[in-house]
Amino acid sequence: MSLNKNNIRAVYPGSFDPITNGHICIAQRAAKIFDEVIVAVLINAQKNPSFSVEERQKMAEEALADFHNVRVCAFSGLLVNFIRSLDSRIIIRGLRAMSDFEYEFQMALMNRQLAPDIETFFIVTEPQYSYLSSSAVKDIFKFNGDISGMVPECVINRILLEGNVK
Ligand code: ADP
Repeated sequence: MSLNKNNIRAVYPGSFDPITNGHICIAQRAAKIFDEVIVAVLINAQKNPSFSVEERQKMAEEALADFHNVRVCAFSGLLVNFIRSLDSRIIIRGLRAMSDFEYEFQMALMNRQLAPDIETFFIVTEPQYSYLSSSAVKDIFKFNGDISGMVPECVINRILLEGNVK
């Protein structure tokens, strides 16, 4: 993927299983700061995702279609290697509560150890999304709760199409 030499490309990695309004908020805010944001959907067999990588990528693409400088792709392997392959040096992560902090802190330090030239930037969520997670959305749906306002329309349609989620 080519980019003007002076432009800054940032990578927002995650499982996005599925993408929520909280994720969208982070991607949108990052897109106001960086020239290009790549939402990178992790192909992770260990995490046993509810949706296939193709489905997760498709939902993210649809949800972010209005943001001209946001693109979606899938990746596997070491994040820092993927970031380098994109000519980027920036990782974006979202922070909800203190409970996110320990894990995110460990990941950021680990990535820093592996690649000191790559920086992790944290964006603090909006208060209304601070309780929101992909797994909460799936649990609420399983028990027939209302998930509108938590995920974009395309995710609701996909979940309804599947009928049930793992
Ligand atoms: P991972 O499996 O890598 O944690 P997720 O898809 O759960 O992937 O999350 C990707 C990133 O988005 C993480 O940095 C996570 O903290 C952040 N995130 C998840 N939900 C929200 C939310 N509601 N508001 C802001 N950031 C969020």
